[in-house]
Amino acid sequence: MKLPTHKTKIVCTIGPASRSEAVLERLILQGMNVARLNFAHGTLQGHKEDIRRIRTVAAKIQRHCMIMADLPGPKIRIGKLRSEPIAFEKGDQVVLTTRDILGTSNHIPVDYGRLSESVSPGSRIFLNDGFIQLEVERISGDEVFCRTLISGPLLSYKGLSLPGVRIFADAVSDSDLEYVDFALREGIDALGVSFAETADDIIKVREFAEKRKKPVYVVAKIEREEAVRDFDGILAEADAVMIARGDLGVQIPLEEVPVVQKKLIHKANLLGRPVITATQMLVSMTENIRPTRAEVSDVANAILDGTDALMLSEETAIGRYPVEAVEMMAKIAASAERERGAIRALSDLPAYFKAHRTPSSITTQDIVSMNAVEAARALKVRYILTRTKRRGGPRLISRFKPDCWILSFGGDKKANQSLTLSCGVYPVCMENNINHLSVDQLIKFMDDSGLLERDERVILVECESRNKMNGTDSLKIIQIGKGSRRS
Ligand code: PEP
Repeated sequence: MKLPTHKTKIVCTIGPASRSEAVLERLILQGMNVARLNFAHGTLQGHKEDIRRIRTVAAKIQRHCMIMADLPGPKIRIGKLRSEPIAFEKGDQVVLTTRDILGTSNHIPVDYGRLSESVSPGSRIFLNDGFIQLEVERISGDEVFCRTLISGPLLSYKGLSLPGVRIFADAVSDSDLEYVDFALREGIDALGVSFAETADDIIKVREFAEKRKKPVYVVAKIEREEAVRDFDGILAEADAVMIARGDLGVQIPLEEVPVVQKKLIHKANLLGRPVITATQMLVSMTENIRPTRAEVSDVANAILDGTDALMLSEETAIGRYPVEAVEMMAKIAASAERERGAIRALSDLPAYFKAHRTPSSITTQDIVSMNAVEAARALKVRYILTRTKRRGGPRLISRFKPDCWILSFGGDKKANQSLTLSCGVYPVCMENNINHLSVDQLIKFMDDSGLLERDERVILVECESRNKMNGTDSLKIIQIGKGSRRS
């Protein structure tokens, strides 16, 4: 028996690029652990044949491959377009209609009958995971008139998202339960519950399966704001979770996805629930044989966050290089896993210092900078002030990434420039001999600049010893007087 070189599990979405027995065999040999069938696309007959082929190949090469059926859920999609792609220009008017028509650049069919009830003038509508953004201008009957805010090419059946808007549809509808019934009859290993809102959606699927005496492994897909809010409840009911970053990235502000990913992974790890990180992991490999550096980092970082599994979507479903994408993912996983312990130890810099610096190797500046940041966190101060001739002090504080700003007072323009790249440091250029300025003068400067609130505290880090070349050696907590005002 030969164990793989990596431990992170790989989920591959099966589609036209990967459903042949030849490609399935290569995918499994390269590291596919789970074959995901997206029930939002294709026919039951097609899924039946996929299931048969996956099982045949896995049996032939004597490898285990879990089959996960991903339920469509209330994903809203546009309908078929007359010719594609349709290209929108910014400012173009587009009418979304619930009528069953072939789409054109003016009229796009949508498969959600209550669209005009859900939206109102000013609502944002995202197509294709937010690559196209529309704003509702007016509604007339079953037609929603929109203006294009962000343009892009549109293909048939792409998803439509309505962030922050009430959707009149159950996460698990009767038609989803028909898919569950089919999946159970086919003996599928796991079910993905799309757009789960609360734990009740997971319970509904589980109870449905239990009534049929076919307990099933349920994967809750976290792609709605409500699911992030009820994550603890969902986690308690689900066997595993998927961070479905495609839809999540339009349902919550896109810039929040990385932090939400880390928090969800942490919670899932605490309970020992496997977590899949999904979507756009190596998306450029849909077209190119090599991924971007950013994608490689994303995959490695998800592993360092603690994900159990990584998912490929279009890369393996419709991409030109499905096997190479799995091979690349396995290589990145092996590399990140080798260093996981070391990276974990490095990520907490103060803990690293405490563990590795001896009394003879730790400097006064190390102690002062570390304690300044600890004090700033404990007291929730908004500023650490530094007043040193040499600019090493602010950089030493910056390495601990405090939540507050480091205001570095100094007169030397060149020294100020040298702080440009240091995170959280704001150099303030004052007169040349900074040491002649009293603390009161610094505080007055901040007050006059409108930086201070009444009654707040700031931390001052400076050099008090006579030998000013020694760097920072003192830390003071200064209570701002009641007289200070905010401009
Ligand atoms: C996602 O939105 O990230 C996702 C995995 O869901 P789907 O591919 O089903 O849209």
